Amino acid sequence: MNISPHIITRFAPSPTGHLHLGHAYSARRAHDFAQAHGGKFLLRIEDIDQGRCKPDYEDAIYEDLAWLGLSWETPVRRQSDHMDDYTAALDILAAKGLLFPCFCSRKDIRQEIEDSGRAPHSHEGPLYPGTCRKLGNAERQEKIKNGLPYALRLDMKKSLDLVGETTLSWTDIEAGEQVATPEILRQTMGDVVLARKDIHTSYHLSVVVDDHLQNISHVIRGKDLFQATHIHRLLQFLLGYKTPLYLHHDLLTDDKGWRYAKRDNSKTLRMMRENGESVTF
Ligand code: GLU
Repeated sequence: MNISPHIITRFAPSPTGHLHLGHAYSARRAHDFAQAHGGKFLLRIEDIDQGRCKPDYEDAIYEDLAWLGLSWETPVRRQSDHMDDYTAALDILAAKGLLFPCFCSRKDIRQEIEDSGRAPHSHEGPLYPGTCRKLGNAERQEKIKNGLPYALRLDMKKSLDLVGETTLSWTDIEAGEQVATPEILRQTMGDVVLARKDIHTSYHLSVVVDDHLQNISHVIRGKDLFQATHIHRLLQFLLGYKTPLYLHHDLLTDDKGWRYAKRDNSKTLRMMRENGESVTF
């Protein structure tokens, strides 16, 4: 295996709730990997969604990770401080003609799918049927002039035309060589949103830009993000970035076999700390 001499890993939580054991496991995997190879471990706060992120949760992230015995490089990158970087990446893609404005609401998309009698789904919800991709330029300009809010979507067909015969692969250091196939990209992602209406960037775009700007050598994260790596690999190609190595680790489950998640009432690290419990991995 080709291990780079400059190992940089990261843990990239969103401060939308308290961390649970699943986060602790992921953070520890990234931290210990860097430590074992004499590398650096970074913490990145993924707070583009300012409506859902809270400063209290960010403070709790620092406290919980320190309680786990982890240390990280400073200063910590906070995504909301770097919106210009995401806009610059969008500009590169726009200059290649790969973005289009999408004015649809979720309801519009559901309606269009119902009307067409087909219901293809991506892992992020109903697959976008391409409604606004089909708009003419005059119609787009008219909507923009009228102040209609819009997201920016990646034109998947044009993107894959640019990829052409190139094989988009990445190395997953446990699962082996992986190929981001056009079929998977088309069927699971469609014209993915790169800039949301409300925040003018997206998870996919920011994570790829940041991993690039922070020279991350190994993206170590849970298997729940394995599918997302297909789109990340495509974005790296379109933006001319190097591809890091990846490791998608198993997801920790509780004693009933359920994945830890913020949305259910998984026991948080804070609760464990307050109860005097300890984390044993
Ligand atoms: N911010 C993402 C999350 O909290 C993780 C991003 C990543 O590791 O790529 O799920």
